[in-house]
Amino acid sequence: MFLSDKFGRRISDLRISVTDRCNYKCVYCRSGNNGAQFAEMPIADYLRMARVLVGLGITKVRLTGGEPLLRKGIVEMVRDLSRMQTLEGDPLDIAITTNGHLLAEMAQPLADAGLSRVTVSMDAVDRDEFARITRVPNGYDRVLAGIRAAQRAGLGPVKVNCVLLRGFNDDQITAFGKFARDEGVVVRFIEFMPLEEDRVWSPAIVVTLDEVVRRMAEFLPLREIEHARSETARRYVFEDGVGEIGIIAPVSHPFCGHCSRVRLTSDGKIRTCLFSVREHDLAGLMAKGASDADMVRFVLHAVDQKEERHHIGEPGFVPASRTMVHIGG
Ligand code: SAM
Repeated sequence: MFLSDKFGRRISDLRISVTDRCNYKCVYCRSGNNGAQFAEMPIADYLRMARVLVGLGITKVRLTGGEPLLRKGIVEMVRDLSRMQTLEGDPLDIAITTNGHLLAEMAQPLADAGLSRVTVSMDAVDRDEFARITRVPNGYDRVLAGIRAAQRAGLGPVKVNCVLLRGFNDDQITAFGKFARDEGVVVRFIEFMPLEEDRVWSPAIVVTLDEVVRRMAEFLPLREIEHARSETARRYVFEDGVGEIGIIAPVSHPFCGHCSRVRLTSDGKIRTCLFSVREHDLAGLMAKGASDADMVRFVLHAVDQKEERHHIGEPGFVPASRTMVHIGG
């Protein structure tokens, strides 16, 4: 029996945040003031938790943060994860979401350690705009070098995630279309969700899927192609077949009905939804000397309480108990 929730959704994806520190201060994510707020666990503890969850049916593990490449021991962690097998006896699918700042040096070691894929976050292809968003000077060229190094290391096609904010970086839509074709990456636009530290979200600031498709046509028209049910992104190719664009639309086209995820925060709490208002303290249980069987029972109980859906934009919306950088995106 595979891990599933009471709505019949199979839970196959685990996201592990290995730190909530970040070397970028993206305006729509961080307040710009502080860094880490929550503890980090020894890597061995994340690995033990991952092993328990893989034993229940997890097939994909994504490492995130904060910025996961800041975490010492991340390459060895990937190597240890790559030695685990799914219940079907296959290798785990291991991915990382990173801002790419340190990727140029780390792409090859990560690939050698068994990483399957990398997703790089990048919210502008214009250097000045990139610096304005990240609040770090001269990052753009490092990130571009990181993307190229990842492609060379066989981690491609690299996915490049861009969160669009109206009036801020939505002038980048068509430039990203060109970027996808020139660099051979899959650019994925993500609708902005109310998960930021500075509470700037409003429905008006969200650039929706329909709008991205409409505006991309100023560059070249897009044609939708099939996507797997559990995939978060709707997939498109340009009319001439060159270049792929994805759109992740949790606000205008929620996909909670197909959600297959569970998250582990850097301090070892299970979150069953980005918008959870309560967490399940697996680290606390482990600290009391829990056996693997105790941990299995705890995980089953947590997953049983997975939320049916999020309530973004609805009256009475209750903000998540943590912001994105501290959850692990
Ligand atoms: N530091 C890594 C990175 O930059 O990819 C991993 C963590 S970051 C929080 C993960 C992703 O979440 C990034 O692509 C970021 O753009 C996205 N993100 C952050 N806040 C968001 C929000 N409020 N709505 C949608 N996506 C958001």
